[in-house]
Amino acid sequence: MAAAEFDIPEIKDYIEVPKLREGVMAHAKTFIAPQAVQDFMGYPHELADNWKESALEKMGDLLGKYRSLKVFLDACVHCGACTDKCHYYLGTSDPKNMPVARQDLMRQVYRRYFTTAGKLFPKLVGAKDLTKDVLDDWYNYYHQCSECRRCSVFCPYGIDTAEITMAGREILNHIGMGQKYSNEILGKVQKIGNNLGLPGPALLDTLEGLEEDIEADTGVAVKMPIDVKGAEVLLVTPSADFFSEPHVESLIGYAKVFHAAGTSWTLSTHASEAGNFGLFNGNYETMRKVAMRIRDAALELGVKRIVVGECGHAWRVAYSFWNTLTGIGYGADDPFSIELQKQLDPNYPQPQHICELTNDLIKSGKIKVDPSLNDDLIVTYHDSCNVARASRMGTEPGGQFTIPRELIKSVVNNFHNMADDTIYESTFCCGGGGGLLTDDLMEVRVKGALPRVTALNNVVKEHQVNFMATICAICKAQFTKVLPKYGFDMSMVGGVHQLVSKAIKLD
Ligand code: SF4
Ligand code: SF4
Repeated sequence: MAAAEFDIPEIKDYIEVPKLREGVMAHAKTFIAPQAVQDFMGYPHELADNWKESALEKMGDLLGKYRSLKVFLDACVHCGACTDKCHYYLGTSDPKNMPVARQDLMRQVYRRYFTTAGKLFPKLVGAKDLTKDVLDDWYNYYHQCSECRRCSVFCPYGIDTAEITMAGREILNHIGMGQKYSNEILGKVQKIGNNLGLPGPALLDTLEGLEEDIEADTGVAVKMPIDVKGAEVLLVTPSADFFSEPHVESLIGYAKVFHAAGTSWTLSTHASEAGNFGLFNGNYETMRKVAMRIRDAALELGVKRIVVGECGHAWRVAYSFWNTLTGIGYGADDPFSIELQKQLDPNYPQPQHICELTNDLIKSGKIKVDPSLNDDLIVTYHDSCNVARASRMGTEPGGQFTIPRELIKSVVNNFHNMADDTIYESTFCCGGGGGLLTDDLMEVRVKGALPRVTALNNVVKEHQVNFMATICAICKAQFTKVLPKYGFDMSMVGGVHQLVSKAIKLD
C-alpha cells in the first residue's frame, strides 16, 4: 500500500515550537500484525469480547511488576517542562505527541481503574474509561514514540515516557494489537538468527564477497571469519551491516581493525544480529530470548570477549540488560552464566563497544591511521539516543559521548559538533527508532527528523559539513531515506568505522 502524501516541513534556522494542531497525526497508524506473526509470538491476533478486562488485568500485572511504571504514572505534576522536547511533537504539531500527553493516554486509564479518587470522582482527577477510541489512541501514539528518552532528561522528576510506551505496547500485544513491523522481525530473528531473515549460506556468501572486495581494493587479505571456534572475540553486529549501504562500510572497518591489531575474531550464524526488537515491543521475556542467542553463541564458540558493532538499541540492550537477562557481564547465577563468566576475559569490559575497542587500539599505537585520507570530508556526529541516554561506554562518565568523538577526531582532520542543545544527552532521535523504521510510518519518520535535520543544516551552512557519522544501524537507515526528502544527499550519512576504514593503515 502506498504511503499517503504529506508536506515536508520547512527547515528553519532554529528549532521552532509549533502551534498546536489537534489530531493531525491521528491517521498515522502503523500496520497491525497478522495472525501468523502474532501466533508465533504467542499473542492473540484480534480483540476478544473481553479485551478491556484483559487489558486492565495486564496493566495491573505490569504495575505490580515494574514499580517505575507506577511511580511515573503517579508523579507527574503537569509542569509542562517536557512538552516541547519531543521531536515528534516539534515535527508534527500534534499535541498528543507531547510527552506528557502521551503519558496521559495511559495515566487517565490508570487513575480510573487503579486509584480510589479516579474510581469515585473520575472527572475531578482527569480519569477516563478505557474505550475503543482510547485504545486506538494508544496504538497510534505509542507507535509515534521512539522510546528515545529525551523528554526524561528535561523532566524534574525524571519521568521516562519510554517505559510508559513500552508498557502500552506490551498491553496492546497482549490483547491482539501487536505491530506488524516489530513482531515480524522478532519472528525472523528467533527462527533464522537475524532481523533480515538471512540464512547462514547467504551470509557466508556475502562475507566471502566482501573479503574479495577488500583485497581488490587494498591488496591485503582481510578476513571476515564466521563460526570459528576458539576465536578470541565474538563480534555481534546489526544484520544491516552485512547487506545495506552505508552499514557494510563499517563492517569492513571492523574487519580491518581486527586484522591490523592481529586479533582473532569471529561472527556467528546463530547470533548474526545484535539488534533486539524485544525492547520495542515492550516484552522483557522476548528481549531475553533474543539476547540468549548471543550467550549460546559465545559458549559454543568458546570466545574470550564479546564486542558489539554499531547499533544504538543493541548497545542499550547489551550494556543495560544483558547482565541480568543472560549473564553476559555480571549478575545471573545459573550454571551457564557462571560458565560464561569464567570463560570471558576479565581484563576487558564484557560486552565492549567496537568504538571503545578501536579507540584504545589507536591510542595505544597498536593500529596506525592516517586522518588525511579523510580530508575530503568535513564531519559532524549524531549521538544516537539509545547510546546517549541509555548506556555508557568505557570507564569514565560520559564515555558514550567522548569515545566516539575521540575516535572520529583521530581519523579525520575536520570535525564540527552540531548545536549544544541537540547533542550529548540532549541529542534528538533520528526519527526512525523504537520500531518506527517502517514505510507505513514514513510521515512520522520524516517529520520527526526535523529537529536533527535543522541542526545538521546549520553546520552544513556554517562549516560546510558534508558527512554525518553515527553508530546506529537504525539512524543510518533512517537518514539515508529521510535526508533526501529535505534536499540532502543520502551519501552524507555513514558509520564511524566507515571513517576508520578509510584512514587505517594495513600492512
Ligand atoms: S521518549 Fe522520545 S519519542 Fe517518546 S515522548 Fe519522549 S521525547 Fe518523544
Ligand atoms: S516534565 Fe515531567 S512532571 Fe512535568 S509535565 Fe512532563 S512528565 Fe510531567
